Order: sequence, then C-alpha cells, then structure tokens
Amino acid sequence: MDTAARLLDAWERGAARTATDRALSLLAAAEPELGVDILAALSIGRRDARLLELRTRLFGDVLVGLATCAACGELLELEFSAADLMLGPGSDPDEPAVLRASGYELRVRPLDSRDLVGIAQLHDIPTAREELLLACVLGASRDGTEVPADQLPTAALDMVEEWLAAADPQADIEMALHCPGCAAGWRQGFDIVSFLWAEIDAWARRTVYDVHRLAAAYGWREGDILAMSAPRRQAYLDLVGT
Ligand SMILES: [Zn+2]
Repeated sequence: MDTAARLLDAWERGAARTATDRALSLLAAAEPELGVDILAALSIGRRDARLLELRTRLFGDVLVGLATCAACGELLELEFSAADLMLGPGSDPDEPAVLRASGYELRVRPLDSRDLVGIAQLHDIPTAREELLLACVLGASRDGTEVPADQLPTAALDMVEEWLAAADPQADIEMALHCPGCAAGWRQGFDIVSFLWAEIDAWARRTVYDVHRLAAAYGWREGDILAMSAPRRQAYLDLVGT
C-alpha cells in the first residue's frame, strides 16, 4: 500500500477520533515501519516536529492561514514557512531530568501522546493541567524522604511546567502577529495537528472525488488509482474532463 492509500485510511479512521489519535495515525501512515507505540512515546515536541516535516513533504513549506485581530477585528491572511516554525531541540527531552528547589528534588520526563490520551476525557482545565504535570513526575523527594507526586505543593508543579516549556519548546509554538490595520501586536499559538488535519481532510475529499471520476470512466480499482503518480493520475483526469 502506498502513502496516499495509507493517508486516506488514516483520514477515514480519524474522522471520529481525538486530535492525538489523528496525529499518531497520520505519522503512522507516513512512517509505517515505526508503529504507533513508538510514535506515542515521542515527546509532544518531537511528535509535532515530525508532523511539520510530514506537512512539508505532502504540501510544501508555505503554510497559509487566517487570524482575526482582537483589537480591530480585521481578518489577516497569514503566510509563513514550516521551517520557521521548526525550533531546535530543547534540552534533550527524551532524557529524564532532575529539578531541585525549596528542598524538593523531582525526577521528570517530557509529556508524550499517551499522557494527552489519558486526560482526553477531563473537561476541567485546571484538573487536566495538574494531571499532565503529575504524569511528568517520575519520582519526588524532600530532604531525602520520598514524597508521593500527588502531595507535591503547587510551587513544585509550577517548576515542572517551566521545565517542560524549556525542555520541549516545539510542543507549544507561538507566532508573533502584527495587524497592518491598527498596528496591534500579539502572540498566537500554532497547532500543527489541527492545521494539518484540516489540510488532510481537504486533500482526502479531492482525492476521493478524483478516484470517483477515474473509476466511473475506466472501471479501475481505488487501490490502482491511488498507486498512480500524481502527474499520471492528473493526465487521465484531464482526458476524462474533455
Ligand atoms: Zn487590528
């Protein structure tokens, strides 16, 4: 099965699933040799870097999006480069780190997709945040005595949150935006998962329509049509269109 057919499968399965499932299905479709378990264990930043690479491979480096100025309401059309959104790796996020403050010592790891699946059903944001930060804590002690993670003070969890931002920066991308209408400036988050999924959705619908036209005209099977190179498929579509 080629990449187009696998991506179409991922789109079909992902329609009713969470953003995390969609992210993993797309990456598994692009790199089937890795397997979902390995992809799910990547830190969120490393996973999102792979999604940006996949996006570049499928649709090129230029991303186009819309944003609304909160100050004057102007609709801005944004064009930006995937390469500009690719940050360098943080402080080796796949390795556990040791944080120390106020007598506490925490061993922490970055967040991965399994953690996000674990909180998908939580609708209360402070609870979800706390669950995520606790998931990062592999072990904690105070003055040499072990402390259960759920008994850590707020300050300790704040420390984990700060570490996460520095260790895995690709997990939380922000763009600096500037309104040409009123000169307001602000920072806006960029979520590669929802961005790429919207593009995959549009691509899948176009592809299904193309398959429909060729299957109707020639009686070919879906798998054979998907296996064609894009120029060859387009050449046939041009003939059908005349
Ligand atoms: Zn404005």
